[in-house]
Amino acid sequence: MRLILLGPPGAGKGTQAQRLVEKHGIPQLSTGDMLRAAVQAGTEVGKRAKAVMDAGELVSDAIVNAIVAERIDQPDCAKGFILDGYPRTLVQADAVEAMLAERGIALDTVIELVVDDKALVGRIVKRAEDAKAAGQPVRKDDNPEVFEERLREYYKKTAPLTGYYYAKGKLKTVDGMASIDAVTAEIGKVLAAAVK
Ligand code: AMP
Repeated sequence: MRLILLGPPGAGKGTQAQRLVEKHGIPQLSTGDMLRAAVQAGTEVGKRAKAVMDAGELVSDAIVNAIVAERIDQPDCAKGFILDGYPRTLVQADAVEAMLAERGIALDTVIELVVDDKALVGRIVKRAEDAKAAGQPVRKDDNPEVFEERLREYYKKTAPLTGYYYAKGKLKTVDGMASIDAVTAEIGKVLAAAVK
């Protein structure tokens, strides 16, 4: 199964992706996680991405496309994967098409988590508080100021992907304002219908 989770920052893509990993035994490919790991490891990619990420802007298409292309060739992706936070631009969406076509594989579906903007800042603030309480590092971009920029980037560059996938007949929408369990159940139904 190959699917894309779409939605603004704080929509719950990561949470739902983790549940899908458990249920379906396929990996979550989060470009945000991969980039944070690169920053942490101090790689060349990490050095180039850090300032852009801290500012809440998007890392270049060339960098993220290369990371994903390499990642989907790993053996654990053979049975499928969940793209979380990628693609985020139309250029990236075209790159996914090309990557999959080259490998003779297809995308099953794209699920958009639809959320109310006003709830998002609160979710991000809570995510930062929860991380702190659990003794985990707090993401530098999980604060209201940077979040505004992340949301602007989303509307400018990522929101057009809903039209892109709708036109291809791949887009399914799920109410991301429902409880985490209800969202999981709804995604389960969408997948059951899409992957037959
Ligand atoms: P996320 O964890 O998905 O919220 O991503 C955190 C940050 O990583 C984003 O604000 C971007 O700076 C960068 N990033 C993650 N995924 C992408 C992507 N597909 N394209 C460009 N930048 C990305």
